Amino acid sequence: MKRLVLKLLTCLVAIVVATAGHLRVRAQGQAPPDHPSITVGGQTYTPRSILARNMGTPEDQSTAFPPHKIIGNIYYVGTRTLTSYLISTPQGAILVNTTYERNVPVIQKSVEQLGFNFSDIKIILGTHAHGDHQEGDALAKQMTGAQVMAMAEDVPALQGMKPGGKPHPIDRVLHDGEQVSLGGTTLVAHLTPGHTRGATTWTTKVTDGGKSYDVMIGTSLRAPDRITPQILDEFNRSFAKVRALPCDVQLGDHAAQYNMQAKYAKLKSGGANPYVDPAGCKVEEEISEAMVRAIVAEQGGRQP
Ligand SMILES: [Zn+2]
Repeated sequence: MKRLVLKLLTCLVAIVVATAGHLRVRAQGQAPPDHPSITVGGQTYTPRSILARNMGTPEDQSTAFPPHKIIGNIYYVGTRTLTSYLISTPQGAILVNTTYERNVPVIQKSVEQLGFNFSDIKIILGTHAHGDHQEGDALAKQMTGAQVMAMAEDVPALQGMKPGGKPHPIDRVLHDGEQVSLGGTTLVAHLTPGHTRGATTWTTKVTDGGKSYDVMIGTSLRAPDRITPQILDEFNRSFAKVRALPCDVQLGDHAAQYNMQAKYAKLKSGGANPYVDPAGCKVEEEISEAMVRAIVAEQGGRQP
């Protein structure tokens, strides 16, 4: 009898622990399903593996990756997994993605390590209205006085993002195809929704070594657990649009979307700039699109 009670108790404890663990993981949004799986370029992905690849560990999310020049006037100032870009011009700088608010001082340090002042930042942009990319906007604006500009369709989500109760600053509302210019550099905002309603892909041109290059800063096109017809329509338009954008250098809102670590290692060893990689430009789009199609097929819903 004693043994039975002990067994029952052990079992109960195991159930409670497993349930608590599951709830904790889901509450953090860290564990999408491990199916369906897709293979692109010989690599297999599931929704869970893509998120894990994008985020890394909590330490990866908040530890500076060595700041460095990518190409032309574009510099990396983000963490190991959450990207931030500084675009310097003679009239100040543009910062793309402030990431989590706690990372703003990390980004500031990287900017200063490159020889720029944080207060040089005049414009703050983002790729999409999730905390890991734009939570730091209010603090960064407080520290620099920069103008925060955001795609109209992401404004409601940004307004709900209030770290420490601070309202989310929005100084200019952008629409699909509009330009943001500073000191001779122009970025074009392309509405590429699906992951959020106003997810934005940025394009610009840089000159490096006397040559001109098309740079694309992509937004995440990662599918939610369940794809509604409205979200599928958004993704269909976004995939076609991203495929058609001119691109020699692809960047993203997570470092893994363009193999930053491998490219940075090559950059350090000299030779041609590894970030110039037109052939690799659309791989992340292919992965995202294949995953959306696989999830729709698994849902048994309509295939486009
Ligand atoms: Zn996101």
